[in-house]
Amino acid sequence: MPYVSPRIAPRINTVLGPIAPEEAGFVAIHEHIGYGMPGSELDPQWWKTPEQRYEETVPKLRMFHQNTLRWGGATFVDATGICNGRDVSYYQSLSEKTGVHIVASTGFVGGDTALPFFERADVDYLYRQFVHEITVGVGRTGGKAGIIKVGVSRGFRMKELDLRIYRAAARAALETGVPIFTHLAVDAEPAVEIFAEEGLPLDRVLFGHADDGVSQGKVRDRWIAEQGGRIGFDTFGYDLELPDPPFWGRPRQERLEHFLGYLRDGLVDSVLASADANCSPLGWPGVKGHTVNYLFDTLFPALRQHGVDDATIDRIFVELPAAFLTLQPQN
Ligand SMILES: [Zn+2]
Repeated sequence: MPYVSPRIAPRINTVLGPIAPEEAGFVAIHEHIGYGMPGSELDPQWWKTPEQRYEETVPKLRMFHQNTLRWGGATFVDATGICNGRDVSYYQSLSEKTGVHIVASTGFVGGDTALPFFERADVDYLYRQFVHEITVGVGRTGGKAGIIKVGVSRGFRMKELDLRIYRAAARAALETGVPIFTHLAVDAEPAVEIFAEEGLPLDRVLFGHADDGVSQGKVRDRWIAEQGGRIGFDTFGYDLELPDPPFWGRPRQERLEHFLGYLRDGLVDSVLASADANCSPLGWPGVKGHTVNYLFDTLFPALRQHGVDDATIDRIFVELPAAFLTLQPQN
């Protein structure tokens, strides 16, 4: 008889504890409370008092909560990971005060933001680090990570350290059941190969930033979708129409058309979407005027104009992300 693990109630890890998938409500699958480069907290040019951080962040989360009332829940997935300003006890207080569920990530945005301590670690060490943060908690906060971040270092090619992190993430995902999301969907072939070698179903992986301006021409998103991977349209709002757009910006209509192509071709179940905005950026000025609430203010009216119905919006922002975030241990 094969060993059958005892059934546990389906759940999603948030920083305040597990929730049932139905409680997640509306999910913004790739956002940031505050993202910065390692060490930026030591640069006095960018110091922010706690009051400032709360002042910048709380109104955005409250607005997010307000915008999601009709879905009966609000879930904000923080894609910041280790070394980039992740602060789980702060997230816990934000979640308590605003009623927004916050899912924290373990893992790294990319090998090139992992501090030397982790850079030198082998796959097994990284795997145990991720499992610890998912099953025991992050630091002493008791808050458990609900997803693993991995990514491609600068240069649009996977580096050796990136590959090590991807493999460790695959093993931790299999063991704990959390999903994985990636920073950048370029150079996906080695990633797909690692996940196949480790036996992780590709629908447990969200290939992020497939829609950003700098990845176009380099990202094989339809190929990834054919392999069963999920495609992240998760930089909605970084429009070149902004007064001071970032280098990864893209013409608004072009991104929208890219996204609508998936819906027209019946590939709605392959996509997830978000805004990748910072509530309060760390060590950089951020992109003025861009928040998670772009989804409600600009994206949804544009989708409705193009004939996208509420059921499709619910599929992308409620049903699919809840299933994705629900722990599915494979061992
Ligand atoms: Zn991000």
